[in-house]
Amino acid sequence: MTVPITVAYGDGIGPSLMEATLRILKAAGAALAPEVIEIGESVYRQGVSSGIEARSWESLRRTGVLLKAPITTPQGGGYKSLNVTLRKTLGLYANVRPCRAYAPYVPTLHPALDLVIIRENEEDLYAGIEHRQTREVVQCLKLITREGCERIVRYAFEYARLHGRHKVTALSKDNIMKMTDGLFHQVFDEIGAQYPELEREHQIIDIGTARVAVHPERYDVIVTLNLYGDILSDVAAEVAGSVGLAGSANIGEGVAMFEAIHGSAPDLAGQDVANPSGLLQAAVLMLQHLGQGAVATRIDNAWRRTLEDGVHTADIRGEHTRELVGTQAFADAVIER
Ligand code: ATP
Ligand code: MG
Repeated sequence: MTVPITVAYGDGIGPSLMEATLRILKAAGAALAPEVIEIGESVYRQGVSSGIEARSWESLRRTGVLLKAPITTPQGGGYKSLNVTLRKTLGLYANVRPCRAYAPYVPTLHPALDLVIIRENEEDLYAGIEHRQTREVVQCLKLITREGCERIVRYAFEYARLHGRHKVTALSKDNIMKMTDGLFHQVFDEIGAQYPELEREHQIIDIGTARVAVHPERYDVIVTLNLYGDILSDVAAEVAGSVGLAGSANIGEGVAMFEAIHGSAPDLAGQDVANPSGLLQAAVLMLQHLGQGAVATRIDNAWRRTLEDGVHTADIRGEHTRELVGTQAFADAVIER
């Protein structure tokens, strides 16, 4: 039985990455019926300030699954970030970002890196509540709720238990932001106590991020607030090899969105050089979510084999690279395998 999903091709490198990913999904026999919606730059330019039209919401609410390539929010002109709008409107409270090293095939200083970042996705400074106080003073509100903390922390511990992970680390700055980050830390301790089989630690975000960059193998599952999670997942993905390698799942109640962790990289658009692996890994997470685990594994194995055979895009070029390829040729190589 084919499952309807909503698909958005995005902007910049997005359309090319999506084409590559959908070709691989099809070749692997994924039972999917993609419905394409248009979102992002072209929709903003038509004067829709949210970057998404009503009929696209209709598709999303019906399918409950969005596979989304990166989009560009035009600078200035009062355009709202569509990524933030999607997360908030669909209630996608948990952003799950697995991050692994593929040593020795992909160059990294940290071959044992294998961690999962669980980022709170709706609150924090991303609530988008900004004010102008005077002409020269502006303000952004950091919004943290007990309910939001409980949901994300509970999700992290349940995720760790389900996936056989042994430790959950919370990162925050509660030494400075005693109320907001303090609440998060307190909830982490309360809920963590209900999972005695899992090791639990808290670190201050700045030293925690520095340690992720230097000793990532010491981390397993990391749970953190929205902004910290954004920064930390770029750090972790780059340290693992490339920001182009990691995919993510955005989970809500009865609805989920899957995307690469990187952005639309306008500098690489139209050149067929970007790495489609991040979006492909997002698609693998999507297949697992949809109960098509066998197809997910088939794709993941073929993809790993491609990396192991030294078929690499430019961002992961190194001493094991045997064939330097573009986006579509990389997809062809995965399909072949
Ligand atoms: P966003 O705010 O949307 O996260 P960003 O400012 O973090 O965007 P990205 O679009 O993620 O920026 O890109 C940052 C840089 O990383 C790009 O300029 C590009 O060089 C590199 N990059 C991103 N994605 C890829 C990819 N798939 N393959 C290769 N390089 C990439
Ligand atoms: Mg980014």
